[in-house]
Amino acid sequence: MSRIDCKNTMVIVCPYCGYEHLDSWECGESDDEFQCHHCEKVFAFESEVTITYSSYRKGD
Ligand SMILES: [Zn+2]
Repeated sequence: MSRIDCKNTMVIVCPYCGYEHLDSWECGESDDEFQCHHCEKVFAFESEVTITYSSYRKGD
């Protein structure tokens, strides 16, 4: 049985079945009772958002 990778992932991954919730961005920053869309078990999640900036010259 392979370990489910549900830490620091780009989307919310169910810790029970490993289902990747590709619409995670609709779920907010955290939730204590998030229901898996696949196995319907309830788990909690938190997001860690790292903001980075990039700048570009607008042309000469
Ligand atoms: Zn699940």
